[in-house]
Amino acid sequence: MNLAIIGGGASALAAAITAGRRNIDITVFERGSYLGKKLAATGNGRCNLCNEIIELGFYRGNKDFIKAVFSKVGKDQILDFFASIGVLTRTESGRIYPYSNRASSVTDALLSECKRLNIDTVYNFDVASVEKKDGYFYVNKEYNTHPLLKTSFQLSLKALSSPEESNRLVSTVFNEDRYKFDKCLIAAGGACGVSNGGGGYGILQSFGHSVTKLYPSLVQLICDRPLNMKSIRLFADASLIIDGETVKREHGEVQFTDYGLSGVVIFNLSPTVASAVDNDRKVTVSLDLLPHINDCMPLFIPRRREYEAFFTGMFQRPVASLVYKKAGIKKKPALDNNDIIKIAKTVKDMRFDIRDTMGFDSAQVTSGGAKLDEFSPHTMQSLRTDGLYAAGEVLDADGDCGGYNLAWAWATGILAGKNI
Ligand SMILES: Cc1cc2nc3c(=O)[nH]c(=O)nc-3n(C[C@H](O)[C@H](O)[C@H](O)COP(=O)(O)OP(=O)(O)OC[C@H]3O[C@@H](n4cnc5c(N)ncnc54)[C@H](O)[C@@H]3O)c2cc1C
Repeated sequence: MNLAIIGGGASALAAAITAGRRNIDITVFERGSYLGKKLAATGNGRCNLCNEIIELGFYRGNKDFIKAVFSKVGKDQILDFFASIGVLTRTESGRIYPYSNRASSVTDALLSECKRLNIDTVYNFDVASVEKKDGYFYVNKEYNTHPLLKTSFQLSLKALSSPEESNRLVSTVFNEDRYKFDKCLIAAGGACGVSNGGGGYGILQSFGHSVTKLYPSLVQLICDRPLNMKSIRLFADASLIIDGETVKREHGEVQFTDYGLSGVVIFNLSPTVASAVDNDRKVTVSLDLLPHINDCMPLFIPRRREYEAFFTGMFQRPVASLVYKKAGIKKKPALDNNDIIKIAKTVKDMRFDIRDTMGFDSAQVTSGGAKLDEFSPHTMQSLRTDGLYAAGEVLDADGDCGGYNLAWAWATGILAGKNI
């Protein structure tokens, strides 16, 4: 039996290794020039590959489906998979990283196992469509209809591959018998990093699958007015207020930037912001800059009252300026009680009107995707087309920061690989 895997990212590699160990003949089609490119950038180059506690509350999407997937392939099975390819891990505040602290050691281990299993890879191949005819899947590239692209693809293959590889790839691509497959897994990721969306959605739609509206997730927020601050970080409680109602609260690191707000806390609010902005709703983020203090007045009253010195030892200067601006306090020699009351109110509820998110080009994950209830949560097989499978971000499930998105990619990839 042979299998085409569309996409060469996290879920694809987990599926390829799991299925490859079952002696399935696999070809991975990747539009980029190497496999696991995004993986190398994850977790700021450290790859936060999973989390100690995989709870449904950290995910968006069909919870019953997500629960069913993780009940088959949970954290322990994911770590067993990594142990089987030699990746040692360590945990930091619940987040699981490779012991080396380098994402490259994860990609190296995945790729070396793919090599050991003789998994074929076809690079620079942007799959435009997949068709099913007479029980077989045919994987097509755009140049089938564009002769010019066909020529440039042949040239780029010659440039990139050794003569031996080039012959193999060309014959795989141009000889119809060689690129027809018994089964096909769509693991083409989401819409992030490319303005026109990921390649997998259209392929799944061509097989009758529905794709929900897509939103950028784990992404920075643009404020109505620029903050003009250079990457100032602090710990805060952030509340997301939509049309006057608080809908979500997060605690952790917030970052002030030129254009607005960033940081883990803001990322976790961002998918809700994206859909609210899209629906023309009023979005505000309120920050509590001293979340561990309920009443600031006893702390503030005895402090030195000079305008310049009041925040010394509490906040960095740009944050102090922002508090004064938001509280409407102009520069003066000394602060009076009225000013102190205004400051206390502002630091506990500093409001920012949000214009938009930074969009798919900056987002880490796509919220939304191919509807989960059109697949089996036991096998990841399509309920529309026999032999068609999907895994990873292309599906309508996404998680918060903390290793939850890669956990989903590995779990669905391993599950598909076990059942194909
Ligand atoms: C900067 C950054 C940091 C991140 N850090 C973390 C982290 O630390 N922890 C975490 O859990 N998650 C993190 N994520 C999210 C995580 O990387 C993704 O959720 C995960 O990679 C999704 O896996 P996937 O296999 O579904 O898709 P991907 O890993 O995106 O792989 C999809 C692959 O398919 C290829 N492809 C797409 N269309 C086609 C086509 N038509 N033909 C051929 N190939 C195609 C793409 O080139 C890509 O290589 C991060 C994301 C980013 C952008």
